[in-house]
Amino acid sequence: MMADFDKDSMQCCLVCNTKVGLSARNSIPIFDESYTISKKPLVDVISAVLGIDISHDSVHSPIICKKCFKQFNEADELKSKVTKLKTELCNSYKKTIEVHKLCDIFQNEEYNDHDYTDNTESQNILTKVKCYIKLS
Ligand SMILES: [Zn+2]
Repeated sequence: MMADFDKDSMQCCLVCNTKVGLSARNSIPIFDESYTISKKPLVDVISAVLGIDISHDSVHSPIICKKCFKQFNEADELKSKVTKLKTELCNSYKKTIEVHKLCDIFQNEEYNDHDYTDNTESQNILTKVKCYIKLS
């Protein structure tokens, strides 16, 4: 399959076209069991970032340079971070919504079932529920 690449383009980075040669010192093989820092297959990360399918047949070079490799690692890392942040924010928001739902329930009960003088007790229950939700 290496025969499909012409000799010059084979030695240039797939992404930035910098001539790096095939020595392991400067270039990283895309298909040769290369992984990002987060242990994802390099080919998958490149594919996701560039938005193209990467296969032996579709690329003009089987290597990338160290600089691009570093940037793909960074993109991969930041993507994981964004996913984690989104999850955290969503969970936080969901808890807030739950608290608001309970607030509504308690407030309705308060107006329907109790005199306004009962306000303090209802507030106490509400505070306890809020604490419970925060801890869970
Ligand atoms: Zn490059």
